[in-house]
Amino acid sequence: MVDRPVTEPAGTVATAELVAELLPTLRAFAIPMPIRFRGTTLREGALLQGPTGWGEFSPFPEYGPRECARWLACALEAATAGWPTPVRKSVPVNVTVPAVGAAKARAIVGGSGCRTAKVKVAEPGQPESADVARVAAVREAIGPQGKVRVDANGGWDVGSAERVLTALAEFNLEYAEQPCATLAELAELRQRVAVPVAADESIRRADDPLKVRAAGAADIVVLKAQPLGGVRSALRIAEQCGLPVVVSSAVDTSVGLSAGVALAAALPVLEHACGLATMSLLAGDVTADPLVALDGELPVRPAAVDPDALASWEVDPAGWRCRLLAAAEFLPEQLPGPERR
Ligand SMILES: [Mg+2]
Repeated sequence: MVDRPVTEPAGTVATAELVAELLPTLRAFAIPMPIRFRGTTLREGALLQGPTGWGEFSPFPEYGPRECARWLACALEAATAGWPTPVRKSVPVNVTVPAVGAAKARAIVGGSGCRTAKVKVAEPGQPESADVARVAAVREAIGPQGKVRVDANGGWDVGSAERVLTALAEFNLEYAEQPCATLAELAELRQRVAVPVAADESIRRADDPLKVRAAGAADIVVLKAQPLGGVRSALRIAEQCGLPVVVSSAVDTSVGLSAGVALAAALPVLEHACGLATMSLLAGDVTADPLVALDGELPVRPAAVDPDALASWEVDPAGWRCRLLAAAEFLPEQLPGPERR
């Protein structure tokens, strides 16, 4: 064995050649989502096949080429470099409880097999008492040994966050995810409440986690493989940031989820369950064996496109070819090559 960091592949390849080589393999999909997400009920994206497997390129519709380049880097990494060596065989994941009533919340947690639950709070139009009732129901359903976290998606001002999180203190929260929108608000809130704060929406690009830390805005960071430029890029960001990490998905197919799983599997330390149990948000998948949680854990394994599964959701790839080529303009001229084994 050559003694070198496990996160660094050996050698480089020319980006333009790589993209030209993989472009003919591109397939596009559009999968309905039973519950509206980011204002839409359709998850669209593209898939690429290379020597080390399939990669997913599924940036959200409103993202421009510069932002899409990081998502493309992740797909190219999957297809041509493969993943770093994992240090665990499975990844613990949380069940997500939407802004539903207490009885429904109890049922979702009870049927999940997960030992960690993430409860959506600060839903517009709902009273704070609804958050408290939902969290109480989830704590009861998951038991005293289970972990309960809340996610406000930046929906509270500092005063509301302090008031509701204080009311929720008796339920022993693991952390509060993005309780407020801005770094200044998160930093102020951390001075006022005892519950740890996690940053999610505050992290959209590579230098954001470092800004979050510098601002004293969070105790934990939520990292996603595609938006941060791939698994190795996210591992470097985690290392530089130095805060505990929760890996989350961008509501990908199993191909994209496998990048998140690879990231969670390669982190030297993983103290919290990850937000990767999101297959249930899609009406279908492009693989024959979807990455779904069993007893609260996702297996660490690759995911390959299955032609029959893809056929149900496949759409015209022309638009995605254009998007990919536009994004490729913003990639470095050289990309990391395959790992030497
Ligand atoms: Mg979140």
